[in-house]
Amino acid sequence: MFLKSLTLRGFKTFAEGTEIEFGPDARITAVVGPNGCGKSNVLDATRWVLGEDNPRHLRVAALSDIIFAGTARRKPLSLAEISLLFDNSSGKLPVPFSEVSIKRRTFREGESEFFINKNLCRLKDIKDLLLDTGLGEGTYSIMTQGQVDAILSSKGEERRAVFEEAAGINKYKTRKLNAEKKLIAAEQNLLRINDLKVEVGEHLINLEDQARRAREYLQVQGRVKELEVGLIKKLAGSLLEKRCQLEAELSQARAAAAAEVAAEQQSEAAVITLKEQLRGLEAELEEQAVKLDAEKDRLRDAELNRRFIESEISREENQLASLEAKQSELQQKIAELKTQQASGADPAADDLPLGGAIQQLIADAHQAMSLLSAVIAYFGQESSFQLVGRQDLEATYSLQNQLLSDELNRTSTELERIRFGLQAHRSEITAISPAGQPEQAKSALQDRIGQLKGEREQLGRQVAELEEGIRQRERAERAKGEATAALEIQLAKIEGEMLGLTEKLSGEYSLTLPELETLPDLTIAVGKARTDVEEGKRRLRSLEPVNLLAIEEFDKTRERLSFIDAQLSDLGAARENLKNLIVELDQRAEENFVRTMEQLSIIFSETFAKLFAGGEARINLTPGVSVLEADIEISVRPSGRRWLPLTLLSGGERSLSAIAILFSLMKIRPSPFCFLDEVDAALDEANIGRFANMLKDFSATTQIIVITHNKRTMAVADNIYGVTMEEPGISKVISMKLTEAAV
Ligand code: ATP
Repeated sequence: MFLKSLTLRGFKTFAEGTEIEFGPDARITAVVGPNGCGKSNVLDATRWVLGEDNPRHLRVAALSDIIFAGTARRKPLSLAEISLLFDNSSGKLPVPFSEVSIKRRTFREGESEFFINKNLCRLKDIKDLLLDTGLGEGTYSIMTQGQVDAILSSKGEERRAVFEEAAGINKYKTRKLNAEKKLIAAEQNLLRINDLKVEVGEHLINLEDQARRAREYLQVQGRVKELEVGLIKKLAGSLLEKRCQLEAELSQARAAAAAEVAAEQQSEAAVITLKEQLRGLEAELEEQAVKLDAEKDRLRDAELNRRFIESEISREENQLASLEAKQSELQQKIAELKTQQASGADPAADDLPLGGAIQQLIADAHQAMSLLSAVIAYFGQESSFQLVGRQDLEATYSLQNQLLSDELNRTSTELERIRFGLQAHRSEITAISPAGQPEQAKSALQDRIGQLKGEREQLGRQVAELEEGIRQRERAERAKGEATAALEIQLAKIEGEMLGLTEKLSGEYSLTLPELETLPDLTIAVGKARTDVEEGKRRLRSLEPVNLLAIEEFDKTRERLSFIDAQLSDLGAARENLKNLIVELDQRAEENFVRTMEQLSIIFSETFAKLFAGGEARINLTPGVSVLEADIEISVRPSGRRWLPLTLLSGGERSLSAIAILFSLMKIRPSPFCFLDEVDAALDEANIGRFANMLKDFSATTQIIVITHNKRTMAVADNIYGVTMEEPGISKVISMKLTEAAV
């Protein structure tokens, strides 16, 4: 396994991507260049990618300072990225790849990202990967002038630090420190928890009494509930039964009332019909009465008419008799006149059966005739007057006859008229009053009226009967209504009681009536149950106020106390474990340290002899002091000289001795490659030669990258990289051998 290449990007002065390749044959690579060109930055980059997070070890104030900070000409970068590429054809790294790259990347504001073969991973994965390679913590893959200085330091701790790291003591120290911190925390926790235990214990005593009261309260409450619920169940049962019965009765009563109403309505309908009939009868009665009155009027009129006609008939019969007498008188006179005329006698007007007027008329006619004869005589016609006298007599008779005949005619005509009238009146009277007929109609009407009145009376009786029936029904209906109302009131009362029970159940016990079904029945007598409930309630009142939460709180507190006890015992055990661990860590650290130092002392002596061409050296711990606090004494005996402490050597000798120690440490903790940063700075020419030889020896097992200013060191290198700063602040790496080859 060897390092194939190191790639830098954005790391400190390596603003641009830079790759340093280490060929398989280049066992020693020298990195050279002027002061401040960035050589040590290459080493920092290697430390960083291997997981170093201590800014001091990376020579920066803060971790983000490793990112290229910019120059006058270039802007700062936001990302730094370093990767190491290993050849793993030997399979030393436990991954099935012949090449393994480890990469670390960071951003100014963010955490680092780690990659193994481009796969994102954790730092721990990288440390695990390198665990057995010698590149992990506590190894000497990187040696600096600072470590040489530390070994040579007059301060015992600084020197110890180098050796402790080799013995892996830091690991124990860190663990011991952690264990001690934990021990302190455990002690503090024990104190705190003990206080808490006292506090919780006191609280528990308080709660115990409250919890006891609360438990009794709940038990009594439960019993009261059981009994009350039992009582309610019983009461509810009887109420339900009663309600059922009442509902049945009510429905019957309602049905009866409804039937009553129906019957009443029927009766009322019948009454209405009968009253209708009655009104019809009344109307007919009225009509018949009117007819009767009319008949009576008509009969009266007929009677009057009949009487009138009878009087007419009697008058006409009288007229008829007198006219018949007059007719026969006139006929007699005419006959007498004719006889008289035949006798030639003067007519006697007085004899005429005439009236005074007719006699006047006759006298006037006689005078007129005389006048007429005088007139004729005056004009000479005396004979004629003679004649006229004769004729005049005839005319008088004729006139008299005429008059009598006229009178007779008139009398006959009158007679005829009277007779006709009589005839008419007689037939009229027959028509008016056929015997007994008018009375029949009247009595028929009276009969009908009588019948109607009878019917009216009957109907009236029926109506009265029905109305009485209705009144009775109304009374019955009222009674039934009252009975129904009474039932309804009872039912409402029961409903009210049920409601009261329901409210009590839900309010006090969060139960519903149907839920009661599932609950047990009362097992004791009702009276006893009531007494027990009363007693229970009295007990509850005497227990109040009760903290019901106390039961749960008591249990919790008891649990808490046992938890505290458990914690105390755990903490006690942990404290003991930690104490044991500390002792154990100390032992292990001591053992490791002593073992390492013994081992180191031997190897150091060999290395010293090589570097100093003979002599010996040793590393001792101050006796009589605890191993882990003992001072480290380094003594050397160069060839031909006595044992000397390191301080008594020359500067160069001391540096070389320190380098010998570092190489010895490297032998104890070998790693695949080793960075040496100017550890040869203080060596003179002769010592540089020995150092270079040592490097050569080491390069057989370890790939060496050495930062140096020394040409002799460069001379043993298989490859040289020059770091330059052509552009101020920007490092650039060039392969010197290649350059030389090119030249
Ligand atoms: P020397 O031979 O004197 O030991 P060197 O070649 O080892 O010198 P380094 O110590 O590697 O030089 O480089 C130091 C330089 O790196 C300094 O000039 C310092 O300003 C520069 N530097 C350190 N951190 C950054 C950074 N984040 N950005 C830019 N430059 C940085």
